[in-house]
Amino acid sequence: MGGDVETIKGRLDIAEVVGNYVKLEKTGQSFKARCPFHNEKTPSFFVSPSRQSYYCFGCGAKGDIFSFVEEVEGLEFREALKLLADKAGVELKKSTSESRAQKTEKEKILEVLEDASKFFEMEFDKSKLARDYVLSRGISEASMKAWQIGYAPAEWRSLYTHLREMSYPEELILKAGLVKSVEPGSGKSPYDVFRDRVIFPLSDAGGRIIAFSGRALAKETEPKYLNSPDTAVFTKHEVLYGLDKAKDKIRRKDYAVLVEGQMDLVLSHQAGVDNTVASSGTAFTGVHLERLKRFSSRIILAFDGDSAGEKAADKSAELALSLGLEVKIANLPEGLDPAEMIANPPAGGPQEWKEILRQSLPAIEHFLNRAIEEEKDKRKLGREIEKKILPLIALLKSSIERSYFISLISKKTGIKEGVIWEDLKRIKISPPAKGAEKVFHTFSEVEEVNKKRSRKELIEERLAEIKLWKKELSKSSPEHLTLKKEEAELKNHLDHEILKDKLSNLSVELANAETSKDDSRVEELTKRIQKVLKDIRILEQKKML
Ligand SMILES: [Zn+2]
Repeated sequence: MGGDVETIKGRLDIAEVVGNYVKLEKTGQSFKARCPFHNEKTPSFFVSPSRQSYYCFGCGAKGDIFSFVEEVEGLEFREALKLLADKAGVELKKSTSESRAQKTEKEKILEVLEDASKFFEMEFDKSKLARDYVLSRGISEASMKAWQIGYAPAEWRSLYTHLREMSYPEELILKAGLVKSVEPGSGKSPYDVFRDRVIFPLSDAGGRIIAFSGRALAKETEPKYLNSPDTAVFTKHEVLYGLDKAKDKIRRKDYAVLVEGQMDLVLSHQAGVDNTVASSGTAFTGVHLERLKRFSSRIILAFDGDSAGEKAADKSAELALSLGLEVKIANLPEGLDPAEMIANPPAGGPQEWKEILRQSLPAIEHFLNRAIEEEKDKRKLGREIEKKILPLIALLKSSIERSYFISLISKKTGIKEGVIWEDLKRIKISPPAKGAEKVFHTFSEVEEVNKKRSRKELIEERLAEIKLWKKELSKSSPEHLTLKKEEAELKNHLDHEILKDKLSNLSVELANAETSKDDSRVEELTKRIQKVLKDIRILEQKKML
């Protein structure tokens, strides 16, 4: 097969292949375009004919003609090979077409979902009730369009009838999760899953609609939020609402804001916090968090300011810490969710929202403050900390961070550090984290490989790419300038990673010095650690908001 690949590569020009999907513009020796794999206004997707490769500085997509066609068409390698072989007039030695039929079914499902979304948008424009509701929540006209907000009429078969009129087979509409079948023999047609609901389309990371989430318009309707059932293109506990739009912002800002609801998400973006993603009516899962980790390992949880929100934050924080993420928690005013917070001046507003995010505290500190607020009895507080806070500290991989939080507890509660350390030792962590175990075997091999590479390596790789592309561009071009800017940002991230490495090395040395009771060494190392921590803080301040 290697022979076929080389023959095809030799016959096809990458600019021509890519040019079939996106509009290419010449810049220096290469071409640029708006990236087909993520949403963007200014082109950051580059194609190099001389190297027969492409690279996107927005989302990191890269590869050759084969990986391009795989990604853009949603094909397996063999299918992409077949497609390009046909194009190049190369006859493959062994052809495999068994999964071809399967694949086209996925494509058909995506197509019917696209048309369903158009139908919902059309109905939304017609429904004053739905529009008024969305407007009343503070969502602007521009956001409605950007997020393709729709409306499913309060009828049993309006979508079904519309799609049948477009000649979609009933079987396919069922498989797309848009209708439910009735008892066989009743003589009735399937009925719409979404009725009298405001519709939010859910997209995959490439921006293709794969399912819907509907919010009930009538107060008494249960459930308030309804998602499409799992289908061949949609797995509920894997999809992050808004990731297609937020992912390159997350990478650039180097943190993500996590909210729970669709309204929260749309309003957060509207307020300018464009690195926000949402789970869709489910708790955040290990799959969600692993996916986010590919863009940044720092997250802010911004859940509802009530006990349910606090509980959800607790669970998500535990899971995220166990996956090695840095977790902060935003403290929302009692009784408000992010959407209400953003849309309701004077209590809230876009600036207040950003301020709340800015003031978010590390998860452990947040829960510690809560515990101290709620429990005035010192003995009970001690037990509460042992039960709730110490298990979170036990999840931290860095001993520096652990000792930081332990001295914080001691400072805030008056409990002696030694006692807390003793309690901490008794805590057993049961890896993998709860709810995460299910997750890992659903990951593809590619993602496994990605996970093994450190963030530092990924950044270095990107810097190397920039160097290559800069060579192909003329120095006066705007692209050259963009790349230079990104290079500076990346170097900043790289410094951060290097400092983190330094910190963990120093912490090992410190532990050794403590064991051998070398006091002067301990003192020296502590000073050096404080210096590194200070540098990290300065860098982080530069990066935040
Ligand atoms: Zn891209």
